[in-house]
Amino acid sequence: MLRVDSPRNEYYYTPNPTPYSLAIMAQAKKALAKKQRTHSESRTRANTYLNYIGGLWVPSQSGEWSENRNPADTRDLIGRFPVSTTEDVDAAVAAARDAFDAWRLTPAPRRAELMFRVGEILIRDKQEYTADMTREMGKVLKEAGGDVQEAIDCTYYAAGEGRRLHGFTTPAEMPNKFAMCVRQPMGLCGLITPWNFPMAIPSWKLMPALVCGNTVVMKPAEDTPLSTYNLVKACEEAGIPPGVVNLVMGHGSVVGARLSDHPAVRLISFTGSTETGQRVASACAERNAICSLEMGGKNAIMVMEDADIDNAVEGAIWGAFGTSGQRCTASSRLIVHKKVYKKFNQQLVERAKALRVGNGANSKIDVGPVINQDAVEKIMSYIDIGRNEDGATLSCGGRNLTKGDFAHGYFIEPTVFTDVTPDMRIAQEEIFGPVTSVIPAKSLDEAIEIANGVQYGLSAAIYTQDVNRAFHAMNDIYTGIFYVNASTIGAEVHLPFGGTKATGNGHREAGTQVLDIFSEWKSVYVDYSGKLQRAQIDNAKAIG
Ligand code: ADP
Repeated sequence: MLRVDSPRNEYYYTPNPTPYSLAIMAQAKKALAKKQRTHSESRTRANTYLNYIGGLWVPSQSGEWSENRNPADTRDLIGRFPVSTTEDVDAAVAAARDAFDAWRLTPAPRRAELMFRVGEILIRDKQEYTADMTREMGKVLKEAGGDVQEAIDCTYYAAGEGRRLHGFTTPAEMPNKFAMCVRQPMGLCGLITPWNFPMAIPSWKLMPALVCGNTVVMKPAEDTPLSTYNLVKACEEAGIPPGVVNLVMGHGSVVGARLSDHPAVRLISFTGSTETGQRVASACAERNAICSLEMGGKNAIMVMEDADIDNAVEGAIWGAFGTSGQRCTASSRLIVHKKVYKKFNQQLVERAKALRVGNGANSKIDVGPVINQDAVEKIMSYIDIGRNEDGATLSCGGRNLTKGDFAHGYFIEPTVFTDVTPDMRIAQEEIFGPVTSVIPAKSLDEAIEIANGVQYGLSAAIYTQDVNRAFHAMNDIYTGIFYVNASTIGAEVHLPFGGTKATGNGHREAGTQVLDIFSEWKSVYVDYSGKLQRAQIDNAKAIG
């Protein structure tokens, strides 16, 4: 039996060491000794977390660590996480390759049984994961709980596929010949994830990848490694075999870039910014790897003159300021019919002003911090653009809160711009913060034109009592997700998630459609005629 120092200063055992795991173990011991020399003092003050490679918890070969701090109070050090190197990625890829054959040949229902166990562990530890997430990412407890719940839902849903993973049969054009199509795994998948849904998004990728028989290397965002660590830990505890799930933490420009470049990584599933996504896609294109991208959004709620305004305002507040506006589906544009524009604005601003900003760990808080100082600067620069360059009306908010309870965190007031025109930068570009823009429109057709008039196409919504208008809008809005009398956020795991235009590259996560990312089709012909039958030639008489 082998033992390795684990992040929470316990010991973990690996029952069946392979030559590969022995090699990793030797490396780990060396790096641990170095870590103990250089970090002995800090380890007594905060947890030190490790990568997970080939079933072992190992430090990075760099011997370097980065600090993960609470965005609501940066004095709170959550832990130290490895700053990994390209060699760490290569080791994880090697482990995933080693594990692939055994995992792909494990019957899907058996793979799923292990995944159901992961789901049970996630349920058991939901509260702990929720608190961890609020602490590392900032979103209020209720929303962090929703994020963990999404991971649970996704795990159960994907595990259910273990007994389906349907292919299909179809008649062959020849007699005594059988035709069918089956799914096969892609191989080794790299999963690169963002910080805003630090457990849900990794689970959206990981669980379907696993049920399809792939092995994976996960690379969480720099700001939120703990939630992905928790997910991987649950996989380990559930008994997912060593090497099937690997976790390498560190910088995107090193770890993410190496994963995207690595010749053995057959598929990259990426969620993040448009710029990074394009970089990842280029790297994949260079080596003909498959790449699934989920990127930005500039989502609109359309409020018609017949809408229930109270309900529409609630939807707008939830969509614009939930997760401090840091969702790719955030309601960053509110397109409001002129007849109800004034009333809607009044109510919206009143509600936005009443939102309580603060540390999301406090259950009375509505809006937590944004993720980091870079985010503060980007959001504040857009508020400045809205005011001074675009000339919109700042109806409430607009300040970076830095005094008193806010002094050690990254807080921005919920901000509403009104009198916004569709061409303004604040109405076109993704801000990813608690900022929304109200744009007047004189008709449904104009509202649809404005809603469609951005580079992104993730989510949109309409508030109306008129079923004809609702269907008309549903038909003409060019997004991947559409809501009627609900906000632009709130996707469920059994429906496909993704967007059109610059939001993605045509793939959909969640739903059964995600299986098309993580598996590929094999068409199988079985000829039981006992003779040569030539397709398109021997039996082509029917239409001459
Ligand atoms: P955000 O701006 O929302 O943080 P990013 O697109 O920068 O979004 O990050 C999303 C994920 O992509 C993170 O895990 C990040 O580390 C990773 N990443 C950043 N740069 C690269 C890169 N050059 N190649 C691959 N992944 C990267």
